[in-house]
Amino acid sequence: MHHFEYKDDALHAEDVAVAEIAEAIGTPFYLYSAATLRRHYRVFADAFAGADALIAFSVKANSNLAVLKLLAREGAGADVVSGGELRRALAAGVPAGKIVFSGVGKTVEEMTAALEAGIYQFNVESANELEALAALARRLGRTAPIALRVNPDVAAGGHEKISTGKSEDKFGVAWSEARALYAHARDLDGVAVKGVDVHIGSQIASLDPFEAALAKLAELIADLRADGCAIERLDVGGGLGIPYGAGEVPPHPEDYAAMIRRVAEPLGVRLIFEPGRMIAGNAGALIARVIYDKKGAARRFLIVDAGMNDLIRPALYDAYHEIAPATRRPDAPPVDYDVVGPVCETGDIFAKGRALPEMREGDLVAFMSAGAYGAAQASQYNSRPLAPEVLVDGARWAVIRKRPSFEEMTAGETAPDWI
Ligand SMILES: *Cc1c(COP(=O)(O)O)cnc(C)c1O
Repeated sequence: MHHFEYKDDALHAEDVAVAEIAEAIGTPFYLYSAATLRRHYRVFADAFAGADALIAFSVKANSNLAVLKLLAREGAGADVVSGGELRRALAAGVPAGKIVFSGVGKTVEEMTAALEAGIYQFNVESANELEALAALARRLGRTAPIALRVNPDVAAGGHEKISTGKSEDKFGVAWSEARALYAHARDLDGVAVKGVDVHIGSQIASLDPFEAALAKLAELIADLRADGCAIERLDVGGGLGIPYGAGEVPPHPEDYAAMIRRVAEPLGVRLIFEPGRMIAGNAGALIARVIYDKKGAARRFLIVDAGMNDLIRPALYDAYHEIAPATRRPDAPPVDYDVVGPVCETGDIFAKGRALPEMREGDLVAFMSAGAYGAAQASQYNSRPLAPEVLVDGARWAVIRKRPSFEEMTAGETAPDWI
């Protein structure tokens, strides 16, 4: 469910015409709907009403400060994976007591910042990290609240590049080693064992892998408690899929919540969630303008002014994004287009053989469901400035990240005088 709709054949975000924003700030740009962000957060929060739960938005999905601030106002915590994301979450007003820190490569600098901020939980991903964190905390005279991220060896996720819970993935502590590492952590000064953490993948289209992982975790928690570890929290990570195409029907958040509540309630734990895509994915679109309708020898190319540097998901994960013309022309004949960007890479393709109504040069198109892992993964490859981001809320809209000028884009670069 989202708030991008046609009104009189013109695509709107809530009450604002996409074309109006494009006229004002140029293209390409990311466009987010505040009502959709709030709605997705509330659907999730309401599904866990009455349960002891922390919903920590996965900042890597969309790290814009305005988006984080909006979610913080709703009561969201934050799941961060770097020192930069930690600073963003704090700057956006997320209380430290609602921040969890995940990631396989936390550095001493990052862990120091998190300890000094007093975050809620470190999700520790290896024995090495456990030792480093404990030693650092002792040196700083602090105690780090921790969960070990365990790897339940469950296959999940829509693509091999977004599966994280298999034994060959780099994430988490191997299932066979978890119990022994917990016993070690229990006796280690500098850390306090609080819970168990898991994150099995992303864009997961069925409840089965979540349920399989939870069943294994329930057994582990019983074992750990028998070993004298006071497990009071269960962090089940993120990963719930969203519909990108018309035929996709991922589990509804309410069904996901019902399953988790059923399995987790007997455990008597506080639940932590790290949803990213589910909150932000369908709340955003990338808006681009058609530069050329190029009739190649074998194919018809719709060349737009957004490229893989702006939205890398199709190139990186073969991801599907619905492409919606900003102006609907019911009488335009259908054409099979290869929709491509201007970047000098063969992989700069958004869609192959996509049936669209015939487009005109200068038309606007929206790449839908681009609110998660869109702007956050963008780069300035080909010296293309980062696409600005815009937030709509009802009839209001505001630029929440401006397009950098050429001077800003190159500001950190200098040539030494010996060249
Ligand atoms: C990426 C990530 C998430 C968010 O995943 P979604 O599929 O966007 O919900 C949550 N937790 C961790 C540890 C992650 O790396």
